[in-house]
This record gives sequence, C-alpha cells and structure tokens, in this order.
Amino acid sequence: MKRRYAVIGSPVRHSRSPWLHGYFARLTQRAIVYAAYEPRGGFADCAAAFFAAGGCGLNITLPYKAEALAFADSASAFARQVGAANVLARAADGGIKAYNTDGGGLLRDLQGLTDGVSGKTILLLGAGGAARAAAYALAAAAPAELRLYNRTPQRAQALAEGCGGVAVAQPEAGADIIIHATSAGHGDYAPYPAALFSTAQLAYDLSYGAAAQPFIRQAKEAGAQKTADGSGMLAWQAALSFALWEGVMPTVGGVLAAAERIAAG
Ligand code: NAP
Repeated sequence: MKRRYAVIGSPVRHSRSPWLHGYFARLTQRAIVYAAYEPRGGFADCAAAFFAAGGCGLNITLPYKAEALAFADSASAFARQVGAANVLARAADGGIKAYNTDGGGLLRDLQGLTDGVSGKTILLLGAGGAARAAAYALAAAAPAELRLYNRTPQRAQALAEGCGGVAVAQPEAGADIIIHATSAGHGDYAPYPAALFSTAQLAYDLSYGAAAQPFIRQAKEAGAQKTADGSGMLAWQAALSFALWEGVMPTVGGVLAAAERIAAG
C-alpha cells in the first residue's frame, strides 16, 4: 500500500509540494501519494484526521506553521528555536514529531550559490516566520556578522536577541550576502537604498515567482554580482522533508533543472 503524505495550508491551491514530492518519489522509486488540503475547520482537526486515517507525514505552509508545532507531541531543537514547523512525521514511539526544514533548505541552497556563509557579513531583511527560520539557520553557520533589519524594528530586535544577530535601525551597506525575507514582493515592495547592493556577492529572495521579481530586479540594477529567488530553498526544504519521512535524500539538482524548464515553457 502506498504511504500517504500531504501539505496543509490556506491557500494551498498553488503549492508546488505535490509536484516536488511526486518527482522525488519517482526518482527514489518510493510508493507514496501526496495530497493538498485546505482545512474547513481548524488545522488541528485536519491534521488529527489525517494521521488517524493512517497518514505518514505532513508539510505545513502558511498560516499554520506555529499551530503545527503546538499540535506535535515532540519537536526538533531547531523547530522549537524557530517557533514553527513545516514538517510533521511519525516518531519511533508512535507520536507526532515536528521539524523545521526551511532553515536547512536555505543553507543548502546558499551552499550551491556561494562559497559558503561562514565568515560573511549577511544582511537579513524581514523578521516574520520565514525570516526566523533563516536567521537561526544562518546564525548557526558562523557568519562574520548577521545584521537584521525589519520594518517593525521591535521584531528584528527580538529576533536578534534570540539568534545572536545584530538588529540595525536602517539597512546598512557593506554586506556580502543580502537575504530578502519579507512578503512585500506580493504587493507593496518599496525599494531599498541602491548602495546596499554594491558589495553584494549574492542578493537572495526567499519568495519565488512574481513575488521575488521586485527585489531581484532592484538588486541586479544596483550591481549585485549574483541574484537568486527562493525556488532552490523550496526544493531543498521539500527534499529534507522527504528524507525525514522516507529515509532517503533525493538529489535536488534534477528538480531545479526541471523547474527551470517548466518556467521557460
Ligand atoms: P510573514 O510571517 O507574514 O512575515 C512578513 C514579513 O514581511 C515581516 O517581516 C513584515 O514586516 C514584512 N513585510 C510585509 N510587508 C512589508 C512591506 N510592505 N515592506 C516591508 N516589509 C514588509 O511571512 P513569511 O512566512 O515570513 O513569508 C515571507 C516570504 O517568504 C513570503 O513571500 C513567502 O512566500 C516566502 N517563503 C519562502 C519559502 C521558501 O521555501 N522559499 C519558505 C517560507 C516562506 P513587519 O514585521 O513590519 O510586519
């Protein structure tokens, strides 16, 4: 019988997770099915019903990542630090364990795009859920400095205190890597000072598709050496989820190439 997995979110219609996990299953010859659910009631009822019916694991996307952590019987240290989970899996004792693979997904993608995060000055823009996962993961990768800027400064300050970064009142020039982790690209992106990008080896937007374009466009025009959107992070967080569930780490290069072919039509 095929093992059942799913993503829960709202909205979930545009999620790429079913496609990604279908791809990984074919690649690794695993017998799985992967669905997408938008809960009619609450998240907890939906997740409980899924596991009660024999489901093996869930991905969780907006706006349920904090609820997913609260739902689980146990959690990885990283998910607890971040305060949010994007993966639920059955633990050996039969309970449900929460993980967060967003931070690891970002680091894996950055490894392929740069010569590493260690020793670099990083500017992280944003302090929401995705930025929290990014901040804790980046802080663990020994940067020279992790600067955090957010529209609402108190959130950057609180995040900096938690992860060991430095909250800045304005986005400062001089970073080697700039990571845009706000949701402004979905609607009301306001450009950052152009001087920010002149030293940037990489300007990276966690968003993907059209939402990443305002930041990527600005970074390119202002002289960033390299730009990338968050589709690689998305693929890596999915691969890390798949590995937690199925015990095999799929190769991600092929999925990125396939995504580029699809994007190019
Ligand atoms: P979130 O928790 O709602 O946080 C939103 C963040 O954006 C906050 O820091 C908020 O600042 C800031 N913001 C919103 N509108 C802004 C504006 N007009 N100007 C400046 N800052 C603004 O959202 P999230 O979950 O962190 O998601 C952020 C982005 O990351 C989304 O586009 C999402 O698709 C993407 N993401 C990608 C992946 C991936 O795998 N690639 C994974 C997760 C998320 P305030 O604190 O001031 O409100």
